[in-house]
Amino acid sequence: MLAIQNKSKIATKSADKAVVGILIAGILCFIIALILLINLPSNIANPIKRLTKSIKQIEEGNYTERIDFDNKSEFGQLATSFNSMAEKLEEYKNSNLAKLMNEKSRIEALINNMHDPVIGLDENLDVIFINREAVKISGLDIETTLNQNAEELAFKNDLFKMLINDLLKIEKGMEIKSKPVKIFSENKEGYFEKEILHISITPKGESSKRLIGHVIILRNVTEYKELDFAKTNFIANISHEFKTPISSIKMSLQLLENEHIGKLNDEQKHLMDSIKDDANRLLKITGELLNMTQLESGNIQLNILNANPYELIQYAVNATKSQAEQKQIKLQIDCNTEIGNVQADSEKTAWVLINLLSNAIRYSYEDSIITITAKSLNDKIEISVKDSGQGIAPQYLDKIFARYFRIPGSKKEGTGLGLAISKEFIEAQGGKINVVSEYGSGSNFTISLNKSIS
Ligand code: ADP
Repeated sequence: MLAIQNKSKIATKSADKAVVGILIAGILCFIIALILLINLPSNIANPIKRLTKSIKQIEEGNYTERIDFDNKSEFGQLATSFNSMAEKLEEYKNSNLAKLMNEKSRIEALINNMHDPVIGLDENLDVIFINREAVKISGLDIETTLNQNAEELAFKNDLFKMLINDLLKIEKGMEIKSKPVKIFSENKEGYFEKEILHISITPKGESSKRLIGHVIILRNVTEYKELDFAKTNFIANISHEFKTPISSIKMSLQLLENEHIGKLNDEQKHLMDSIKDDANRLLKITGELLNMTQLESGNIQLNILNANPYELIQYAVNATKSQAEQKQIKLQIDCNTEIGNVQADSEKTAWVLINLLSNAIRYSYEDSIITITAKSLNDKIEISVKDSGQGIAPQYLDKIFARYFRIPGSKKEGTGLGLAISKEFIEAQGGKINVVSEYGSGSNFTISLNKSIS
């Protein structure tokens, strides 16, 4: 019994010891868990927070950002890798920036050394670059021009005024004059052809284009213009000198035709007719060349008055009657005598009608009909000359009004100036000229002039 009681006591003691041991171990575990609970989040979360902040800085392009963690921990290794990455990025950025700066100054030097004036504007029309030549012809200086708004500069500078006007016109979809502009700088006149380029880019990640600025190039064409003037003067003088002898040949021919001076035999008459034809052709060519020189030198003088279309048509028909008779071509007029007046220079409009009729006769077949129609349309009167001749192939339709252009293979004699002069004469009067033609079936040239108000 005693032995059993002793054993039971020992067992109870051991059990108590075990309970105390377990209690101590439990409390220790609880304390450790508590410490971990308090410290672990800050030990892990803080470096992660710091890392996130630094990554954000890198994302924003601040490559000087560095992280300083305890080197021995896992985060320490991460920080070392992060810092080395940031260092490499910084190095890369600096080398790229240097390269970009290099490229920028290279482009600036290139633009500055160009012989033609160049001006660059951004999308807000602020001047972003202007080269030496542009500064020279504008009379401004770089410091007061760079980064200034071109619209403000236009108030005090004629060159910028003209360029801004052109830019605004282009933006509104209007056409600008392609003629060279005269600019007076450094006590001499210069001629410049302007070219306005609109620069658009598609930004990364976007699909539509965005305008980022304009580049204006003024090509110096003074040398060519001077040569052109010399050529125009030369042609004007020669044509003028030719007119007098040709007119006297015509007068002598008229005298020869007079039977009081002496009778001509058939052979002589035939020769005289061909001399007359040649003289008329020469007179036409010199007339066209003189007209062209007037247009080129800007000396065209218009005398715009009320003119009767019917009378103009009659005049042109009478002038080309004999040419039409030679090919048995009938000239048919379809015009109401009460059509009303047009505002036109009668002499120049009659010249155009004669030219259109003479072309229609030249490019028509024998025994055909040419119709001259006048129609009233709103505030315009349209006069058209329609033939049923060879017509014009579609690829030449937009070229025939260009100076000196003749359709390749055109066997008929001519200078290629008639239609170009006609276009300039009609447009100078505020009218329009156009052609509709079907190759093989004939052409229809139409001029449209403004109606007289009263
Ligand atoms: P040209 O002196 O050569 O006739 P134009 O300027 O009057 O010069 O005409 C230019 C070209 O247009 C001509 O060479 C001709 O080929 C073409 N052309 C003009 N009128 C007609 C027409 N009625 N029919 C066909 N072709 C024409």
